[in-house]
Amino acid sequence: MDQLEDIRSRIAKSAAIAGRDPAGIELVAVSKTHDADAIVPLLEAGHRVFGENRVQEAAAKWPALREAFPDVKLHLVGQLQSNKAEEAVELFDCIHGLDRPSLVTALAKAMEKAGRKVPCFIQVNIGDEEQKGGCAIAEVPALLASAREAGIPVIGLMCVPPAGIEAAPFFALLAEIAADNGLDQLSMGMSDDFETAVLLGATHVRVGSALFGARKKAA
Ligand SMILES: *Cc1c(COP(=O)(O)O)cnc(C)c1O
Repeated sequence: MDQLEDIRSRIAKSAAIAGRDPAGIELVAVSKTHDADAIVPLLEAGHRVFGENRVQEAAAKWPALREAFPDVKLHLVGQLQSNKAEEAVELFDCIHGLDRPSLVTALAKAMEKAGRKVPCFIQVNIGDEEQKGGCAIAEVPALLASAREAGIPVIGLMCVPPAGIEAAPFFALLAEIAADNGLDQLSMGMSDDFETAVLLGATHVRVGSALFGARKKAA
């Protein structure tokens, strides 16, 4: 799988520049909108960590793939509606979009019911954009405290910086907020900017189109 090799070596190069161990950087292959035919070559090449942004789509696609590749880890990288929390907790191994008190409640209840704790990232609206998901920067400490109180394992912060502008300052800001809150994992960087994200401390990069090619439909 040439693309996979390419992305892995670019991550390794950036890690080397930053003096980081590339093993500390998880490549989440974002397979949303792509079907099994596109995913299987990555699985066969040994890749096991994938991301989807819709619970419904993941539920349709992954159970069959998981039968063949039981050690797959599935990450939810998009917005999560509270009424899908139960399904998400059953299906996913990591949730990147914890961004509001109502979702803390829903996820805590779902994890309790499933008897399964799913690690979560708090998504931060790092560019303070009106239309974007993520909690406001000022609300991170309170959301983190309430999630912890509810028994949700919060492992770090996640962001999607504003489009059309250099991402580095936003990545640096996310890293600073994480450090201020005692969190050491950072989900940041996509196809166009994952190398920058690695330089600035990303522990999880979410790469879709650079691995799978352009998406057919909007996602
Ligand atoms: C689609 C998506 C990605 C991957 O985007 P690419 O630009 O295709 O790499 C990463 N993160 C989130 C939250 C996404 O929705």
